[in-house]
Amino acid sequence: MAKFDLVVIGAGPGGYVAAIRAAQLGKKVAIVEKEKQLGGTCLRVGCIPSKALLESSHLYENAQVGMKERGVTFSKVQLDLAAMMKHKSGVVDTLAGGIDGLMKKNKIERLVGHGKLSGKGQVTISSRGEEVQVEADQILLATGSVPASLPGMSIDGEYVGSSTEALKYDEIPKQLVVIGGGVIGLELGTVWRRLGSQVTVLEYMDRILPGLDSEIAKEALKLFKQQGLEFQLGAKVTGVKINRKTVDVLIDGQEPLRCEKVLMAVGRRPNTGSLGLEEAGVEVDQRGFVKVNSQYQTSVPGVYAVGDLIGGAMLAHKAEEEGIACVEQLFSSYGHVNYNAIPSVVYTDPEIASVGKTEDELKESGIEYRKGAFPFMANGRARASGHLEGKVKILADAKTDRVLGVHIIGANAGELIAECVAAIEFGASSEDIARTCHAHPTLSETIKEAALAVDKRTIHI
Ligand code: FAD
Ligand code: NAD
Repeated sequence: MAKFDLVVIGAGPGGYVAAIRAAQLGKKVAIVEKEKQLGGTCLRVGCIPSKALLESSHLYENAQVGMKERGVTFSKVQLDLAAMMKHKSGVVDTLAGGIDGLMKKNKIERLVGHGKLSGKGQVTISSRGEEVQVEADQILLATGSVPASLPGMSIDGEYVGSSTEALKYDEIPKQLVVIGGGVIGLELGTVWRRLGSQVTVLEYMDRILPGLDSEIAKEALKLFKQQGLEFQLGAKVTGVKINRKTVDVLIDGQEPLRCEKVLMAVGRRPNTGSLGLEEAGVEVDQRGFVKVNSQYQTSVPGVYAVGDLIGGAMLAHKAEEEGIACVEQLFSSYGHVNYNAIPSVVYTDPEIASVGKTEDELKESGIEYRKGAFPFMANGRARASGHLEGKVKILADAKTDRVLGVHIIGANAGELIAECVAAIEFGASSEDIARTCHAHPTLSETIKEAALAVDKRTIHI
C-alpha cells in the first residue's frame, strides 16, 4: 500500500494549495479528487466561470448603452451566447490544466476518485467500481460545499437550478426568478439581466446581502433597482410548481410568480457525503460543518479540515489561507490566519468590497469609532471613466485611530480593497492611509480621501 506524509481529499482552493505548500516543505503528498478537473467549485462552477460571464455580459451591455455618451457607438451589437459559453469553458480548461501542471511540478501524486476515511491513517479511493487504499500520516479533508435548497423543493436542473445550471443556460431566460438576495443571486442575477432576462430577486429578509455593512447594502439595492433588477424583500418562498415550459414560484401570502427559470441561491452546505466521517468519529456541528480546533484538527487526531467544509466565510481565498496555515502548523510549526483581515468582494456592477468590522458590528459591540466617507463622483478618474456611483467608508477606532473596517461600493472595489486589507493586517491607522501618497488620477485616491475624512479634512469635497 502506498504511503504518504499527507493525503488531501478534495482539490479545490483549500486542498490543492495545501498540497503544494506541504510539497514545498519537503513532504510526500497525494491529492484525491473525484472530478476530472482540479480546482474545485471555485474553478469549475464558481469564481472563475461566473467572472468570465460577468466580463462578457459587461462587454455586451456597454456596447449597447454604456459608450454612446463617450463617443463610441456600434452599428449592430449581437449576442452569441454559445461563443460566450465557449470562452468561459476555455478559461476554466486552461486554468484547470495549469493546476495539473502545478501538481506535476511539485511531485504531488494525483489520485482520481471518491475519497473516504477507511481506518486510522487510511483513505480508500473508489473509481468506476474499483478501490485503492493509501496510508497517510496526516489526512486533510477539503471537500468543500454544495448548493443548498429549501425544504421540500428539489433542484431539477432544468427549470429549477443552482448556480451550476445558471452558469450554462443555453438560451437567455425571458424571466429568471432568483430565490435568495445573497452573493450568488446578485452576481448571476445581474449577469442574466445584462444579457436580457427580466430578473426578479426574492429575498426572505428585509434587506439584501445579509452580513454586509447595512448602509452599503442599502445603496447597492438602490443601484440594482435603477439598473432594472426587481426585488421582493420579505418574500417567503413556499414551493415551486413546474408546468410545461414554465415554473410557478409560490410565495407566502402572494400570487405565484411565473417564469422560465428559477435560480436557487439560498446558501451552500458542507459536502460531507460518503466521506466516512461518522465511522471515523469526526464530529460535525448542527449544520453539518466539520468541527476543528485552532490548528484545523478535527475530533480525530491526524485528520484535519479546511475551507467551506468547516464553515465561516465561504470564500476561495479563506480556504487557501486555511490550507496553508494548516500544513505549515503541521510541518513547520508556524502558520496563522487573521480572520479579521479576509476581504470579501461581491462582483456586481458596481462591485462591493469589504474587510474588517461593519458599522453594524461596531455599534452592536459598543466600540467607539470615527467614520470617514468619500464618494466616487468627487474623484477625477471616476469622472473620466464614467463610474460615478458609490463611495468608500473607513471606520477607525475613536481612541487609537486603528482601522477597524473598510467598505467600498464602486468601480474596481475588489481591487481597491487590497490596500485596506494590508492596512488592517499591519495594524495601520486612518492617519497612516491619509499620509500615504496615492497616484493621481486613480480610483485609489478615494481611499486616501476617505481616510482624510475620518479626521474631517478631505481635500476634494
Ligand atoms: P471546493 O472548491 O468546493 O472544492 C472541494 C473539492 O472536493 C471539489 O473539487 C470536489 O469535487 C471534491 N470532493 C468532494 N468530496 C470528495 C470526495 N469524497 N473525494 C474526492 N473529492 C471530493 N469565492 C470567492 O472567494 N470568490 C468568488 O468570486 C466566488 N465566486 C463563487 C461563485 C459561485 C457561483 C460559487 C458557487 C461559489 C463562489 N465562491 C467564490 C466560493 C468558492 O467557490 C468556495 O468558497 C471555494 O471553492 C471553497 O474551496 P474549498 O477548497 O473549501 O472547496
Ligand atoms: P448567501 O448566504 O450569500 O445568500 C443566501 C440568501 O438567501 C440570503 O440573503 C438569505 O437570506 C436568502 N434566503 C435564505 N432562505 C430563503 C428563502 N426561503 N427565501 C428567500 N430567500 C432566502 O448564499 P449564496 O448567495 O447562495 O452563496 C453561497 C456562498 O458562496 C456564500 O457564502 C458566498 O460567500 C459564496 N460566494 C462568494 C462569492 C464571492 O466571493 N464573490 C460569489 C458567489 C458565492
